[in-house]
Amino acid sequence: MKKVFSLIAITAILLVACSPNPYRKTNRLHKKQLKNYAKELRDFPVEQENLQINYGPYAVGTTNFNLRKPNYVVIHHTAQDSVRQTLNTFTIPRTQVSSHYVISDDGEVFHMLNDYFRAWHGGVGKWGNTTDLNSTSIGIELDNDGYEEFSFAQIKSLLDLLKELKEKYNIPTENFIGHSDIAPSRKVDPNPNFPWERLAEEGFGLWYDAEEVNKLQLAKDTINTQNSNIRDSLNIVRSHVSKTANDSSKFVPQNFDPLLALRIIGYDISDPEAAIKAFKLHFIQENIDAQLTDNELKVLYNLYQKYL
Ligand SMILES: [Zn+2]
Repeated sequence: MKKVFSLIAITAILLVACSPNPYRKTNRLHKKQLKNYAKELRDFPVEQENLQINYGPYAVGTTNFNLRKPNYVVIHHTAQDSVRQTLNTFTIPRTQVSSHYVISDDGEVFHMLNDYFRAWHGGVGKWGNTTDLNSTSIGIELDNDGYEEFSFAQIKSLLDLLKELKEKYNIPTENFIGHSDIAPSRKVDPNPNFPWERLAEEGFGLWYDAEEVNKLQLAKDTINTQNSNIRDSLNIVRSHVSKTANDSSKFVPQNFDPLLALRIIGYDISDPEAAIKAFKLHFIQENIDAQLTDNELKVLYNLYQKYL
């Protein structure tokens, strides 16, 4: 009986090892697209289409250039049932969605697109003044149903990958962000179980200083409202930043405006409630509503100073 089992096991292993890549067909499509883009990039002299522009009389190609490189990493959860389902979604043209990397629950990394190409993972979004995050970022999808915890193996693989990307492209620490950060009114991924603090400890993303937050007190007239006038607030915060630059900063300054702080961190505040929720999803990770408690306000104050 034992022999039969081992025979079955060996046969199964052989079958898996010999089975053809199930994505052979779409890989061929992928290569065809790469070829077309390569052709486009080889175009020189650059075709001069707009006759309104007063071009010079001859073609001059500079000898000094390289490829543009990504400067952000946007992290997602797939909200799908399996990594196989995500790989399928990203290889069906009509879905119009993709990412550079997909990481399975057991830590396998699928590299689906060269980092220099533009994947379609961000959609409409904004971070700081950047509105086309797909053009400037690498997208990483974590296999997760949208609610579950992220496995140890998956986070380990993510950290290994982030380390390589950060070094290779010299991506700033604060530019490791989540999909919900860049699209607060549309997206809630990665879910609140995502270990942003752990990532920040490893140098991917910023985090507040809990000890400093504990020491902070609210000044009596600190604004804790989401409706103040942004222009006024800007002047108020500017004057307070300069006034408080040299003291021990144990008080949240008078008239500190949480919305302006969110904007400085990078959030799109055109929908203030969504911006607060996105901030809480990333940095508070519980009671994700549009209200800021006094303690959450202190966290925000401590954090936004790191982005100034
Ligand atoms: Zn996403």
